[in-house]
Amino acid sequence: MPIRQAACNCGQLTLTYDGPDPARISLCQCCECQRRTGSVFSVQTRLPRENVTITGESSTWTFPMGGATPATFRSCDSEGATYHFCPRCGSTVYWELAIAPDFFGAAVGSFTDQTFPPPVISGFEAYGPDWAMNASALPIPHHEYDGTTHGGPRL
Ligand SMILES: [Zn+2]
Ligand SMILES: [Zn+2]
Repeated sequence: MPIRQAACNCGQLTLTYDGPDPARISLCQCCECQRRTGSVFSVQTRLPRENVTITGESSTWTFPMGGATPATFRSCDSEGATYHFCPRCGSTVYWELAIAPDFFGAAVGSFTDQTFPPPVISGFEAYGPDWAMNASALPIPHHEYDGTTHGGPRL
């Protein structure tokens, strides 16, 4: 199995995963995920803690906020989560979920890895825009950048 590494945008906060392909990879369009990512859906995975190594500093935000009443709306983190993000660049790289204490949640996009396996479940689709799950069908130019010019992709 490949060793996979996630990183924030500036690179100081990393998560390294050394284990089998994760069993749970999910798409989510809940409002928490939309705001966390700034995108219309998130893709995340759960990784057994014993297979994870974290380096760098993180700032945290816990949802629901400490002392606040429990959330009265539905989201994938309704039971509570602590998000770890880079204090310098702001990327959320990983998190702790109250409902899955033996795992870290991790943002699949933070791995920038084309070989990462696809999601196995999708949630809260009604909360996102109608086109979110079918963007490739939009009647717009789809630029076919082949990744070989201008230095190629950032690794
Ligand atoms: Zn950073
Ligand atoms: Zn969500």
